[in-house]
Amino acid sequence: MSKITVPAHLQNEYYAISPEHVRISSAAAIALGLKSGRVFRDAHCGCVNLLEHYPQGCFANCVYCGLARERPGVPEDNTFIRVAWPLYSTQLVADKIAEREREGRIGRVCVSQVQDHRANADMIEILTRVHDAAPAVPLSALVSATLLDEEWLRRIQATGVDIIGIGLDAATEDVFNRTRGKDVRSPHDWDHHWQIIRAARRLYGPLNVNCHIIVGLGETDRDLVNLFAQLHAEQIAAFLFSFNPEPGSAMQDLPRQPIRRWRRVQLAKYLIENDRLTAHAIQFDAQDNIAAIDAPPQTLAETIVAGRAFMTNGCPDRSGNMTCNRPYGSYRPGEEFRDYPFVPTADDLPIIREQLGWDA
Ligand code: SF4
Ligand code: SF4
Repeated sequence: MSKITVPAHLQNEYYAISPEHVRISSAAAIALGLKSGRVFRDAHCGCVNLLEHYPQGCFANCVYCGLARERPGVPEDNTFIRVAWPLYSTQLVADKIAEREREGRIGRVCVSQVQDHRANADMIEILTRVHDAAPAVPLSALVSATLLDEEWLRRIQATGVDIIGIGLDAATEDVFNRTRGKDVRSPHDWDHHWQIIRAARRLYGPLNVNCHIIVGLGETDRDLVNLFAQLHAEQIAAFLFSFNPEPGSAMQDLPRQPIRRWRRVQLAKYLIENDRLTAHAIQFDAQDNIAAIDAPPQTLAETIVAGRAFMTNGCPDRSGNMTCNRPYGSYRPGEEFRDYPFVPTADDLPIIREQLGWDA
């Protein structure tokens, strides 16, 4: 990426940066009335996802990410999970959130960090502005563990945040190092991530901490199933993302995962999380892909028909219903759904069954 020459202490004057400005997901910008447009099949986006913004993007170098430090191109072209996030004044966004909250249309607000020396203090400031404008709105913080210690986790909690999301992304230490750690000149460390995950779990409580996990970075299904079982045992949520190559990133030419793999992984995770089976009931082939699930046919059939296993994994609203549904997080408008931002309908189920490739 081309180098920014304005020093950090002057960037406030030269650029619209955080904390005075934030990026907002396109779906949330539409939901807040900041941008015109519609979301496919009118999937309601109740969660307002905000992202810190600095001219350099992010100082980490995750090889699948459109904000990575060494991504080629100009910073203005940066994307995050494949979609451009428009930039707005933080106060305007907070005021819009308060307006929509009065109409009962906000499920949650989430502020995401990037790796930057200003990111912790700015996250606190952005969260505080939203909380002051709309005190009853549930808040999540999607953090970069590399920036944090227990004290910062406490400070984030003091702003009103009740859920911490952590971008673990990789399912194993080896995949982590190869895609976002020391092997790719990136500052993230696997052990430190787990220290922060467990510290957050102690402070925020059961299922109030989630790990974002990307399927398709080079891990096997067995790796994923082991991770799901471990997180479930520690009452930490696992939120899945389907790898979707970012143009311009180092992984731009790698393929997406076959839909069959993705659906089977979604189903296995759901069954483990809901205590419908243990990890031992999952059978793998010679490549460690899921080959079969040793569960009563009725359990499988009921789970598939209910459809929830195939929905987006996201933080809940005040009633406990998933609200962070991230339309287009893993697919482009008009493409087949990877994760459904709503409960799949009867019309969707034959497609899901076909994608799973099992008779259930
Ligand atoms: S830390 Fe997050 S935003 Fe930064 S490069 Fe890695 S994935 Fe992208
Ligand atoms: S799932 Fe939760 S932590 Fe992750 S982006 Fe959505 S609201 Fe934020």
